[in-house]
Amino acid sequence: MKSFKKFSIALVTVDPFRIGTSKDVMSAFDNPVAMIGGKVVVQGPTLKGFLRNRLEEYLIDTYGGNDLMKPCIPSSENTLSADEKILIKDGKYKPNGACHYSSEDARKRVSPICPVCYFLGANGLNGFVRVPYLYTESRPDELYSVRADRAKDAVVDRTNRNYQIMADHTVFNGILEVLTDNSLNGWKLGQKRKIQDSDRLDSWLNERSVKYSKKFMELTYDELIAEFIINLLNGENVMGGFKSKGCGKVNITVTIIKK
Ligand SMILES: [Zn+2]
Repeated sequence: MKSFKKFSIALVTVDPFRIGTSKDVMSAFDNPVAMIGGKVVVQGPTLKGFLRNRLEEYLIDTYGGNDLMKPCIPSSENTLSADEKILIKDGKYKPNGACHYSSEDARKRVSPICPVCYFLGANGLNGFVRVPYLYTESRPDELYSVRADRAKDAVVDRTNRNYQIMADHTVFNGILEVLTDNSLNGWKLGQKRKIQDSDRLDSWLNERSVKYSKKFMELTYDELIAEFIINLLNGENVMGGFKSKGCGKVNITVTIIKK
């Protein structure tokens, strides 16, 4: 049996807001917003990417210098950019790119999973947090951006680009789920997951990280979820596209759903 804690997420746009998608042949717009079943959405992967970013920053700011607490850069080792390699060299991120797990590794030596991937999942291994799609009933507005001909001081023909955008005060909703217990494989949130007799996998939950911070394994589910998920989502932040055009400020409120 699996047990979850559930949280309702309300995302309210403070600025105009846009999460675009590539042009759809059925759409009249060059730059449509992402929609599913006729509703505008913040896709799960977008929200998850946002949370991943927040969690990386939090770990670096709070536990920086502690090797066990370093987040990974979620791309494969041979695609790391020069700038990313500097971040690793500076000791902000763990080396070798994204965390991953396969049963092949287990037969040799399990490589540790970083705290971010512990919660959000790594390649080949689920995490504890299920990030939802957020939906709104509101409809997008349609706008045009035009390019002026600098010489003639007139709008250039055929350069009009129409795009869809969500107004401020649009409300998106969804339900976030955090796994706390799985009696089938023995997983418990905040405890090491034993895989094939190795307990190297979640080494950030080692006694060794205690001297730098606190005993994570002794925190309650609510304390863990607050520190590593909810506090990082709550409040004002910036998300989506057109940020340089004054878009993207949002206010997120996460509330526990009592059973
Ligand atoms: Zn990782």
